[in-house]
Amino acid sequence: MSESHPAIGIDLGTTFSAVARLDETGRPTTLANVEGDKTTPSVLFFDGDEVIVGKEAVKAMGDEMPCVADCVKRELGQRIYPKELASRQYPPAVLQAWVLHKLGQDARAQVGQFHKVVVTVPAYFDEAHRKATQDAGYMAGFDVMDIINEPTAAAVAFGYQQGYITAKEGVTQSQTILVYDLGGGTFDVTVMEIGDREFRALATDGDVHLGGQDWDRRLVDFVAEEFITRFGADPRQHPNSLGRLWRESEDAKRTLSARSKANILCEHGGHSLRVEVTRGQFEELTRDLLDRTVFTTRETLNAAGLGWSDLDRVLLVGGSTRMPAIGEMLKDLSGSEPDRTVSPDEAVAHGAALHAGVLLARHAGRSPSFKIANVNSHSLGVAATDRKTGRPRTATVIPRNTRLPVTAKRVFHTQKENQKSILVQIVEGENASPDACSQVGRCSIRSLPPELAARTPVEVCFRYLENGRLTVYVAIEGIDKRVKHELLRENSLSQEALDSWRKYISGLSPMITSEIQ
Ligand code: AMP
Repeated sequence: MSESHPAIGIDLGTTFSAVARLDETGRPTTLANVEGDKTTPSVLFFDGDEVIVGKEAVKAMGDEMPCVADCVKRELGQRIYPKELASRQYPPAVLQAWVLHKLGQDARAQVGQFHKVVVTVPAYFDEAHRKATQDAGYMAGFDVMDIINEPTAAAVAFGYQQGYITAKEGVTQSQTILVYDLGGGTFDVTVMEIGDREFRALATDGDVHLGGQDWDRRLVDFVAEEFITRFGADPRQHPNSLGRLWRESEDAKRTLSARSKANILCEHGGHSLRVEVTRGQFEELTRDLLDRTVFTTRETLNAAGLGWSDLDRVLLVGGSTRMPAIGEMLKDLSGSEPDRTVSPDEAVAHGAALHAGVLLARHAGRSPSFKIANVNSHSLGVAATDRKTGRPRTATVIPRNTRLPVTAKRVFHTQKENQKSILVQIVEGENASPDACSQVGRCSIRSLPPELAARTPVEVCFRYLENGRLTVYVAIEGIDKRVKHELLRENSLSQEALDSWRKYISGLSPMITSEIQ
């Protein structure tokens, strides 16, 4: 690790974020924020011109809810965050940048100036989400060296703890582990092999719209229904009543991880109701959510070509795995107690800091202490036309769970004689119809030679890196140069907009023009 560059890893969570660094001995440690907490709520409060991030923003949920943004990570990849904040609308990546900026400022108060960081993302994030996260890091003033998957980062932290990185005596056998990562807003499951200083993902799957928030919502709805029966008014209709009820419900959910019952207070329209919820009731209310994670976990094991008995352990990561039902369910399925040895709140940031240490060592010409090998979580392809039916269909170029980095090609054909241009529409997903897949972006090739014959082969080549970022090359038969194409991404900010936001968020520019949004 270089003296001038601390190795910093950031876990940018849906509900909570954390920052870690490697200390002088190369050990990861969590950096507390200025409030003294190891995690920072990923919540923003727009207080006039000031943007407040963290605990204070959570407090504002009770009486200033219209000016509060939360769960922004769930909206990444969209053009605009769906709620107006202090009369303005913002791209979700910009809101994430504010959260990152606060994390950076607080960390700098302890470790001094730094810019280079590693940021984590759910393994199930697609290209658009990854690009938006990288953009958020840039706008926050960072140099994002890499983006790594949260379950991989957790496995790295676990591997460090177990001695797989430092090559402690006795650690020789490789292990196959399943990382079950249930955070505040996302669920990821990854099967990994670790050993010999290599962390190798075998298969990964997940749901970017499933997390602790959904468990909270069930409690909110349960209490709201009781409130309606009693007083005929719905507390969810008023943002501040909803904000308070949400906070109370999240609190009760945590209590239910430790105790068999909890109370939730709901106040709205001059009425007040206290509702008791038992753990059994809560588990009944949320059973289908748990079942969704079971389904995905089984599918991932299948995709890795493994059964439960092939696993050496099941590693629990993410704050929501504290719910007892999760551990019980995984014990039933796997036949052994899941592993809770890594801190569910800190492991991801620790793994990211360890990876940052590897990258800094590599930049400094030293050999890294471990390697990460990843797979892609979604198939990548292009929107093609079925010759027989004339209908659009997805032509996969890189199937999901392919080891990265990978270069893959596929040959397509021009449709008509003397075609002037070709539009390559890149999609991500498993659906046979390109419209049902996520639209990554497009690149158009305009400089086709004149009098090109119909059905001239066009080779589309994808270069897909470990961090999930894509480069597209297109080669046309008869023309000897392969052209690297700039992807025009859907809902992505221009470089000019990124630069303006970077200056604005860091306080170097006093205002931002509305066109930049
Ligand atoms: P993470 O994104 O990993 O920080 O996880 C945050 C999520 O974990 C939030 O939805 C929290 O409500 C949830 N969480 C944290 N502690 C507990 C607990 N003791 N019981 C249940 N859920 C928890």
